Amino acid sequence: MLIASTVDAQRISLAEREGSREELMRLRNQSFRCPICHAPVLLKAGEKRRWHFAHRPHHTCLVENEPETEAHLAGKYDLFHWSRSAGRAPRLEYYLPELRQRPDVYLPGIEPTALEYQCSAIAEKRLAERSIGYLHRHITPVWIIGMHHHSCKRNMIRLSGFVSMAIRRSRAAPAQHPFSSPYFIWFYNASTKCFLRSSCLTPWSKTYFISQESCCTLSECRPYQLLAPYLDFSPKSFMRLWLTMKKRKRLARPLRMTREECLLRSQVYQFRQHFAWFPSYVGLPHHSFVYFLNPPLLWQMWLVLLLGRIQPGYWFTPERMLEEASRRGVADLFALRPLPLCPTKTAGQLIAVYLTQLVRLRVAEQSGASYRLFPYQVNETTFTECLKQDRQTLVQLEAALLDDPLKE
Ligand SMILES: [Zn+2]
Repeated sequence: MLIASTVDAQRISLAEREGSREELMRLRNQSFRCPICHAPVLLKAGEKRRWHFAHRPHHTCLVENEPETEAHLAGKYDLFHWSRSAGRAPRLEYYLPELRQRPDVYLPGIEPTALEYQCSAIAEKRLAERSIGYLHRHITPVWIIGMHHHSCKRNMIRLSGFVSMAIRRSRAAPAQHPFSSPYFIWFYNASTKCFLRSSCLTPWSKTYFISQESCCTLSECRPYQLLAPYLDFSPKSFMRLWLTMKKRKRLARPLRMTREECLLRSQVYQFRQHFAWFPSYVGLPHHSFVYFLNPPLLWQMWLVLLLGRIQPGYWFTPERMLEEASRRGVADLFALRPLPLCPTKTAGQLIAVYLTQLVRLRVAEQSGASYRLFPYQVNETTFTECLKQDRQTLVQLEAALLDDPLKE
């Protein structure tokens, strides 16, 4: 904590104090209290971390106390001064008694905002509860994740557990491309004083997302951009990466599989099909598929199996397909990812997006809210042919959706 009170209820903020070291040393002899639970707290005036207050060991405060690393203290300090110099009136460690929560930085205003700089791991359930608590009180939560949870290689970012729950949707108008994505996540590096934004997130698997990364220093960014960054999108690099991942999946040996993939493979083999020779319209990208926990390739493969092999020629609504999945023991394929900061979507709405893509590719037809697949043949083909078709299908989908964009 950077804030405490003295015994005579005077507020002491270590983030706003311009005093000398000697002055602070004199302060050290005072007894300080936690402004929330009023228990005595210690002034930690060491060399490794910036000066801060801490409860005595094993003390339980009214708000949950996480271990305060130097990165967390520094980030909190930076975010406070950054929003203040941008003309906002930030409140550091502002206690919200009705929620029993204390955001790192609270920005009052027309749209009150709680900035949470999360460096230590937190249970997913806690992050969801805290986000929902803020939202119920009409406070917008913004989770900014510490850099050591950032793991990205060649535009593939790994987001799992509580980190993926910080995904949000930009309020800025999205880039005009069918494969661009308004979903993004904020990271902050306290040692370089830079924000890092992983944007245009499109899910590839449970934990890997295609991402476009960009850095900006504190002075290059304004607080409103936390909610509405403009996300630039490069279609070429996205399509190249999508096709590479699809190729890898076709060639991969199934050594480590999730339970859902294992189940799906056994269903595919029952129909005497080769898993790796899935049709090119299985595994189509769309930003809204971020809501499904499972890889697009898997749940799309099951839908195509249902429409093309299990009950060919039948008309299905998305809801009916979900009932069928549940009856056949694969309901988990359509499990939704917990995204407390994003608008709610149903599995049926997401399936409808994919089925509409199939209609645009002219492999399926639509009548009202129902869809059916045109009969298809799985020919014994070569991998080279499969990869060529993947590319053609993606280009065809891009052209069809540029012409007539999908409505969400
Ligand atoms: Zn306390």
